Amino acid sequence: MFAASVLTLFPDMFPGPLGASLSGKALEKGLWKLSVTDIRDFAEDVHKTVDDTPFGGGAGMVMKPDVVSKALESVRPHGRIVFLSPRGRKLTQALAAELAGQEKLTLLCGRYEGLDQRVIDHYGMEEISVGDYVLSGGELAAMVLLDACVRLIPGVMGNAETAEEESFENGLLEYPHYTRPALWTTPDGEVHGVPEILTGGHHAKIAAWRREKSEEITRERRPDLWQSYLAKNTEKSK
Ligand code: SAH
Repeated sequence: MFAASVLTLFPDMFPGPLGASLSGKALEKGLWKLSVTDIRDFAEDVHKTVDDTPFGGGAGMVMKPDVVSKALESVRPHGRIVFLSPRGRKLTQALAAELAGQEKLTLLCGRYEGLDQRVIDHYGMEEISVGDYVLSGGELAAMVLLDACVRLIPGVMGNAETAEEESFENGLLEYPHYTRPALWTTPDGEVHGVPEILTGGHHAKIAAWRREKSEEITRERRPDLWQSYLAKNTEKSK
């Protein structure tokens, strides 16, 4: 079972969005587990101090290693320990799939300028980033990571095929979707139909059309993905 322990200074933020929709239902059904620890509970002084000024000076505050370590010791076993951080390895679908297969995951949410380096090193934390921008805390990043993992747990999504066809699963972005009505009238009176091939019921042709669209969209929007897709496919055909 996928069990996640989240350590945060803002425990009230959880489960938050993870308690709704797919991930929320899965949590209720016991398909995954979430426990949340308030790091502040492990502060030792009367003021419940969790941060201090950085050695060497400079702006901002740093989360104290002694307090964070006590919080971590309270949630053993750890499994992999992830520190959400803009310096980390970028979260991808492949990494989400890998993490979704873990029995236990410990997620540490940073605040302020970040975490004392010694505690990162001592616990051998894996730093993971949700993208090249700076959030004010690791909580939203942890939720993004968990959401991406939880929907991959068997039984969470109604339709297992949905996941297989999605963006990134085959190295491509997804093809466009259409649903009823077949003729949609825009607010200014234009009538838009759907690509004819989709209503013809010819499954092989539909699959080929979707593949083509996926490739087109990936080529136009994400040259980086397109290049690795091409490289992989020439590798395969060798
Ligand atoms: N001073 C840090 C940023 C601190 S932001 C730096 O320049 O790298 C405060 C906390 O928010 C971080 O410790 C981290 O836990 C979280 N955070 C911010 N941006 C993030 C991102 N892109 N991915 C994951 N976590 C992030």
